[in-house]
Amino acid sequence: MSAMSGTPGAADPAGFRPRVPAAEWDDWRWHMRRRITTVEKARQWIRLSPDEEKAIAGAAGKYRWSITPYYASLMDPDDPRCPVRQQAVPAPGELAEFPGAEVDPVGDTHYRRTNRVVHKYRDRVVLLVTEACPVYCRHCTRKFHTTDLDGTYFRDDEGGDYTEDLRYIAGHPEIRDVLLTGGDPLSYRDGKLEEIVAALRAIPSVEIVRIGSRFPVLLPQRVTDELCAMLARYHPVWLNTHFNHPKELTGEAAAAVDRLLRHGIPVGNQTVLLRGVNDDIATMRALMTGLLRIRVRPYYLYHCDNVTGVSHFMTSVEKGLEIMEGLQGHITGFGVPQYVLTTRIGKIPLARPYATRTPDGLLLRNHEGRTLVLDPTTLPITEPDAR
Ligand code: SF4
Repeated sequence: MSAMSGTPGAADPAGFRPRVPAAEWDDWRWHMRRRITTVEKARQWIRLSPDEEKAIAGAAGKYRWSITPYYASLMDPDDPRCPVRQQAVPAPGELAEFPGAEVDPVGDTHYRRTNRVVHKYRDRVVLLVTEACPVYCRHCTRKFHTTDLDGTYFRDDEGGDYTEDLRYIAGHPEIRDVLLTGGDPLSYRDGKLEEIVAALRAIPSVEIVRIGSRFPVLLPQRVTDELCAMLARYHPVWLNTHFNHPKELTGEAAAAVDRLLRHGIPVGNQTVLLRGVNDDIATMRALMTGLLRIRVRPYYLYHCDNVTGVSHFMTSVEKGLEIMEGLQGHITGFGVPQYVLTTRIGKIPLARPYATRTPDGLLLRNHEGRTLVLDPTTLPITEPDAR
């Protein structure tokens, strides 16, 4: 990065953004210390709308609010509908009541086995290491424990004791895959994170460690060579991140992904379908193909759950299916994520059928709507003994 390229201001005709020396801009700790948590600080970066100001005041005492200067630099200073801004600045919808909204619709609480372990699927668990995040995404599914000030899920601190959680994992040899999430595990300093990963690696039945982190999107400077080298000592380690819009695919984000990949850490992406942010085919195509350009594999497209404080981002399932049809066959196959709905009984794949059984055989439909029937002599549909 050049001395000034990391310094917001050049693409800022409104002149909101403070000038920052490159050495500070490149230092993730600087961003963490300078996080935007007040209206006054936000006004240095964007022209807050009356609605946003009202929502910030209304959210005070209810939901956490914090934005890294890096993520703020991606925002349109004048447009409250900016897709980056909507993910980070409180909006009136957060405080509105929506029918069917629940605090924990995916059932983390139900499947919680220890302070930090959520065991929902037989062979894998979630280890909730922290409730801290660099930015508190307004659409967070776990809003009840990352962002909600009333509903703290567990008391998080780096000195926290993991004995009970590790004992549970070691005591269930069917668990071969542990996902570190939260909150964002990279909120921990490297040393603390290493303690946890090393302890997991010492459990013989744990085959892979996965990390769910939005730092590559919200503060890519955090993904240092030192962090990646530390994680690489405990392979196989995988990382899934969370890009939601092409505006987030910056040079800094691409460099962070490159550091992870160079250390042998595969990077996947989980996008959430968000009304007003990415709920159109053109945006999703640009996002998925952009991810491939920086060598991130699109993995899931999550339907936005009806979570209290998040429901205003929810689209219909039909909208999601329409977007998937706009991807399937129209972009590189491995750039098409799986569209899923997270429920208490697990993730449910959602898709319109491309093949339907008829009396004449299998009716196939391609991405352009063209059809073809393959009769059973050409394409057996059932095994011979079932025919
Ligand atoms: S970084 Fe992840 S866990 Fe944290 S608020 Fe955003 S979506 Fe939620």
